[in-house]
Amino acid sequence: MAAYQRPILAANWKMNNGPTAASAFLASYLGRYARRDDRTVILFPSALAFAAARSAVAERPDILLGVQNINAAEKGAFTGENSAAIALDAGAGFVLVGHSERRHVFGETDADTAEKVKRALAHGLVPVLCVGEKIEEREAGETDAVCVRQLRAGFGGLSAEALRDAIVAYEPVWAIGTGRTATPQDASAAHQAIRAELRTLAGEVGASIPILYGGSANASNATALLAAPGVDGLLVGGASLEAESWTSICNAGS
Ligand code: PEP
Repeated sequence: MAAYQRPILAANWKMNNGPTAASAFLASYLGRYARRDDRTVILFPSALAFAAARSAVAERPDILLGVQNINAAEKGAFTGENSAAIALDAGAGFVLVGHSERRHVFGETDADTAEKVKRALAHGLVPVLCVGEKIEEREAGETDAVCVRQLRAGFGGLSAEALRDAIVAYEPVWAIGTGRTATPQDASAAHQAIRAELRTLAGEVGASIPILYGGSANASNATALLAAPGVDGLLVGGASLEAESWTSICNAGS
């Protein structure tokens, strides 16, 4: 069974922080955030800032690193893309798959996420499968159905053993980067539906796959979100870009 210490606090820097900014940010953050063994911290820098981030956390094995995307192909003529093998070789342990911006800005389909999850797992890279509904889907009462569909697409057909280290992030699309956060109750309700489907897909393993909440989480709401039943951690975009707020999120819930 995956041995992540919970809560898991994950930072998605998106297309922010080049190597210079990443190094400066990490110097500031690492000076503020003292290692804690009662939680897990994962950073997702841009691909080009990855080496700088890796070198900045070299003395901090408690800070884990992932990439924001991989191509589903093993290798080859895919100009501009990075593969699971390249990510692993660069030092990544995790990869975001199916982030709402990949799905809704870049047109990534459920089938694409399935291929990426498979490729990541084949290389020992942990997929963080992001699922979540658009506002019109929420208003139509389809939140659980959308999450279940995306989970089945991403994880269906895989053995429980293959999924033992996987992570899920519930990220309602309407809450990402909008300043509109799901209430702890909204998050709990969706996490409950996700947990039920994970159990169906992977039994006991599915019962322990961490489910993170993402969507305008910040230093002010992190503690309440982390206290919501079923919330095992946070995936944070905007508020992870500032050392003080990210440090306070990393210390939240204590
Ligand atoms: C994200 O990008 O995964 C995210 C949750 O962004 P934000 O915190 O800015 O809403």
